[in-house]
Amino acid sequence: MACLAHLQTGHWLTHLHLADAMSRRALPVINPDRCTGCGRCVAACPPHVLWLATARADGFGDKQAVLHDPDGCTGCALCIAPCPFDAIAMQRKPGAHGA
Ligand code: SF4
Ligand code: SF4
Repeated sequence: MACLAHLQTGHWLTHLHLADAMSRRALPVINPDRCTGCGRCVAACPPHVLWLATARADGFGDKQAVLHDPDGCTGCALCIAPCPFDAIAMQRKPGAHGA
C-alpha cells in the first residue's frame, strides 16, 4: 500500500525520506529514578547508541543507561520493551512533526 506522500508526489525518493524522518521523530528518555543500570536496553539497541555510565565525574557510583549518540538513534523504540522497570519513554524531538 502506498503512503499519502507517494500518492501525492508519485516519487519514491520523497516517500523514503518521509519514512526516515518519521521513524526518527522521537528519542528515548531514561528516567533516572527508575533505571537500575541492568543494561537490558543497551543489549537490545541495534546501532549501539545506548551505554551504561555514572553521572559522577570521577566515574564512581551506580551506572544508568545513557543515550550517548542521539544522532545515531533510529527511533526504533526496541530499547523500551526489555526494560523491566518501565524506565524508558519515547519523547518527541523538538520541532518534529507527525503523529
Ligand atoms: S530507539 Fe532504537 S536506536 Fe534509539 S536507543 Fe532505543 S533501541 Fe537504540
Ligand atoms: S533496561 Fe531499564 S533499568 Fe535496565 S539499564 Fe535500561 S533503562 Fe535502566
